[in-house]
Amino acid sequence: GDEELDSVASHLPSISTSRIERRWGDTTPYAAKKKLQSWIQLPNGDWVLGKNLTTSSSESIISLPDGKVLNVKTESLIPANPDILDGVDDLMQLSYLNEPSVLYNLQYRYNQDMIYTKAGPILVAINPFKKVPLYGNGYIEAYKRKSVESPHVYAITDTAIREMRRDEVNQSIIISGESGAGKTETAKIAMQYLAALGGGSGIEYEILKTNPILEAFGNAKTLRNDNSSRFGKLIEIHFSETGKISGANIQTFLLEKSRVVQCTEGERSYHIFYQLCAGAPSALREKLNLKSADEYNYLMQSNCYSISGVNDAEQFRIVVEALDVVHISKEDQQSVFAMLAAVLWLGDISFSVIDNENHVEAVTDEGLHNVANLIGCDAGELKLALSTRKMRVGNDNIVQKLTLSQAIDTRDALAKSIYACLFEWLVEQINKSLAVGKRRTGRSISILDIYGFESFDRNSFEQFCINYANERLQQHFNRHLFKLEQEEYIQDGIDWAKVDFEDNQDCLSLFEKKPLGLLSLLDEESTFPNGTDLTFANKLKQHLNSNSYFRGERGKAFSVCHYAGEVTYDTTGFLEKNRDLLHLDSIQLLSSCSCHLPQIFASNMLTQSEKPVVGPLYKLGGADSQKLSVATKFKGQLFQLMQRLESTTPHFIRCIKPNNLQSPGLYEQTLVLQQLRCCGVLEVVRISRSGFPTRMSHQKFARRYGFLLLENVASQDPLSVSVAILHQFNILPEMYQVGYTKLFFRTGQIGVLEDTRNRTL
Ligand code: ADP
Ligand code: MG
Repeated sequence: GDEELDSVASHLPSISTSRIERRWGDTTPYAAKKKLQSWIQLPNGDWVLGKNLTTSSSESIISLPDGKVLNVKTESLIPANPDILDGVDDLMQLSYLNEPSVLYNLQYRYNQDMIYTKAGPILVAINPFKKVPLYGNGYIEAYKRKSVESPHVYAITDTAIREMRRDEVNQSIIISGESGAGKTETAKIAMQYLAALGGGSGIEYEILKTNPILEAFGNAKTLRNDNSSRFGKLIEIHFSETGKISGANIQTFLLEKSRVVQCTEGERSYHIFYQLCAGAPSALREKLNLKSADEYNYLMQSNCYSISGVNDAEQFRIVVEALDVVHISKEDQQSVFAMLAAVLWLGDISFSVIDNENHVEAVTDEGLHNVANLIGCDAGELKLALSTRKMRVGNDNIVQKLTLSQAIDTRDALAKSIYACLFEWLVEQINKSLAVGKRRTGRSISILDIYGFESFDRNSFEQFCINYANERLQQHFNRHLFKLEQEEYIQDGIDWAKVDFEDNQDCLSLFEKKPLGLLSLLDEESTFPNGTDLTFANKLKQHLNSNSYFRGERGKAFSVCHYAGEVTYDTTGFLEKNRDLLHLDSIQLLSSCSCHLPQIFASNMLTQSEKPVVGPLYKLGGADSQKLSVATKFKGQLFQLMQRLESTTPHFIRCIKPNNLQSPGLYEQTLVLQQLRCCGVLEVVRISRSGFPTRMSHQKFARRYGFLLLENVASQDPLSVSVAILHQFNILPEMYQVGYTKLFFRTGQIGVLEDTRNRTL
């Protein structure tokens, strides 16, 4: 329960909370260097490379590529790297590490379709928005044999597999980036590699086929990405002791269900609706009484039905095939399609006013009949559930009529619930099909593909949750790459100049503190019957104004100072989305259905509410019942996720979107820079350049490489053996440090030892 969450929170380290100024780049006085080339920033923010004609300590004369000559302050110049370093495949190799040099290096590579670059331990991937010839069996083989070395998702995945085997520790591949940056594609590329290397049992084929299913039901066209994932995903792939894939498990996070009933101009609802309408064979069409997509109210609102280059009918065929592969029976598939059609038809149910108090009643029309047929209930019961609400007042049961807006909310809540339950049910079926047998052995590699930081013109509850999740992930990233790194050096007594990093614990506390944090206050206000978005906003301002990460805004808005920038949230709809209530009348309706899926959904909803809960109590309709608020449930999921990730060796991939037009060949420096800053790429490079990323205990090192020794060592203690190995292989003194318990190496040093070992074994 609650205590569990708190104990997780206290187990996280408390890091010094002062905000540390970002110190990027080279601090040596530039004038002293008299370099030949420098970066000059143009008024639009872009950087150009200039030649230094003359340089004094105060002023320099620079010629630009277009022939112009400028007189600039010497201190404003940023040193450029020599040409020989153009396009290095690891930013660590740059002599001058500064923003324009990094931007230039990435762009130089991007222009040649080299979309992957290492930034020390992390992989930077820039979305090409076109097919690049970097994938497939030939490449997979090459990376497996290590005959290519250029940075790649395959390479990082290969490292994960090797480290899983070598260290016997579970691994994770954590993919982050903005919407449209390429996370989901990257995750699929990693899965491809795992499937190729760990394949053989056939289960890998099933695992790959989960992608088209989850994308059909969980992705949609948005203004930023034609195939935008509207949920987060962690897929854990299990390996047997022989290194073969033995099964997998998928966990999903926070599906955006509002999209089912509401969608902005130019976007689409979930792909599967359009696929079903376009691709259902005639027998199915008839059975579901399907219309075409542009005739359903829910799909009509956004005035967008197709995606260029995508054939929805063909996609439907692919999804059905995938459902077969993951062992969803034809009968269950029919039920799934019936649920989808029911959701669409729900949106077509209309209401008419029945008295002079503006109460309404669902119209007995085609929509109502179709929904009743599809879910298997009585049309009269459905009508009643959508037009009235049973209430308990004292000891009496009364029936309250609904107003138009209440009735529409009830209908939409039912549609959203059916869809969300369907999604959950599908994931559960997939997990059953992929389940690791009873003999749970071996290790796992998890791939996390979760929505990146979002900041729009208008930010709502969804962005609030997404950005909260990103703060958590950012802390994991910081902890791993900066904090643990340094602590380990210090603990082991090696020489190490401390590197500061920007910590986001204060912002996380703003969300999580009890009782006066954003989440607690939201839950508290959600339990008040008279709570509104405005009273919530006012409460935030009242309690949090002194917090430097919070700012109250006009009206119902507030701002949070996130690690990636300030975001203003509009609280409209926060309470309702957080409560996410489905009235008991609707749940009872579902449980009375003759079809099995609605029954399962209803019973899941009821058992969920009876579980011991963290968070507030809600009154669901007439019955007293408890339900987790959406934010609290999400927070719990995130804590669990972090706990799982903590026990793995992480590998980070940062996806970058080079332009907002989804178009190939266009590299917008300011857009890229902003993303690089958000995820601290330069700090990572700096820390890695000066650090010792590879480490191994004396014992392990001696055990692993001791047999390679050509001469006997006088003393057999692990340290002496280790030192002898280092000497035999001529590892230079500046390339390693000997700690109390471990040996620390700079990047790349252990490679030659591993190669010799592999050749010898
Ligand atoms: P995200 O999951 O980060 O929102 P996606 O992975 O869906 O982004 O990528 C958005 C689009 O960008 C894809 O549909 C695809 O067209 C393109 N894309 C991304 N990565 C690649 C890649 N490695 N090669 C080719 N196209 C890509
Ligand atoms: Mg995605």
